[in-house]
Amino acid sequence: MVSNPCEPPTDCPVCPRLVAFREQVCTEHRDWHNAPVASFGDPAGQLLIVGLAPGMKGANRTGRPFTGDYAGDLLYKTLIAHRFAHGTYLARPDDGLELTDCLITNAVRCLPPQNKPNGAEIKACRPFLLATMAAMPNLKAVLALGRIAHETFLSAIGARRAAHPFGHNASHKLDGLTLFDSYHCSRYNTNTGRLTEAMFNDVFDAIDRFLNRQSKS
Ligand code: URA
Repeated sequence: MVSNPCEPPTDCPVCPRLVAFREQVCTEHRDWHNAPVASFGDPAGQLLIVGLAPGMKGANRTGRPFTGDYAGDLLYKTLIAHRFAHGTYLARPDDGLELTDCLITNAVRCLPPQNKPNGAEIKACRPFLLATMAAMPNLKAVLALGRIAHETFLSAIGARRAAHPFGHNASHKLDGLTLFDSYHCSRYNTNTGRLTEAMFNDVFDAIDRFLNRQSKS
């Protein structure tokens, strides 16, 4: 079978620490996805949303980015409000939700211990991020969820981090596309008030304006 350059194989052997963790979680939860999580959405879209890595009980369990954990509740609610998603989000991959004009991916496709991929793992997964971007002919905007996704993205495309400091609701003009930043929509960030629903909406309002999309109803 010809492999897809955008996705690691389900038994990707590249990162020993992530393979060991995957095998450990698999023995505890045999019915979970426990494999690299493929991107979800519309490759013809103008927007690519980049998260860091699958969450243990979210994407690693269900097999769809941001699906089944708290971060997904806010992300998909906001995507529906901004018409990037259509249908009902039921926190499961067979809920029929469809994305229009955007694709969601993770910089690292496998579940990392403590939600923290290391530098080598981020680097090893980079070709999949770059291939995913290359396979989006209409890509104009990238939304980085959190500082690490922001820095990972800049390194992946060879842009200088110092020239583009992370800032919530900041945007950065890069070669051929614009990078938008948001604090990660994690439970911790929303519980502590670092990121409110209104702040997250503001980022999507800015993206809507940039892409000349109709603003939400
Ligand atoms: N779920 C994901 O798929 N990615 C994240 O960054 C967080 C939760």
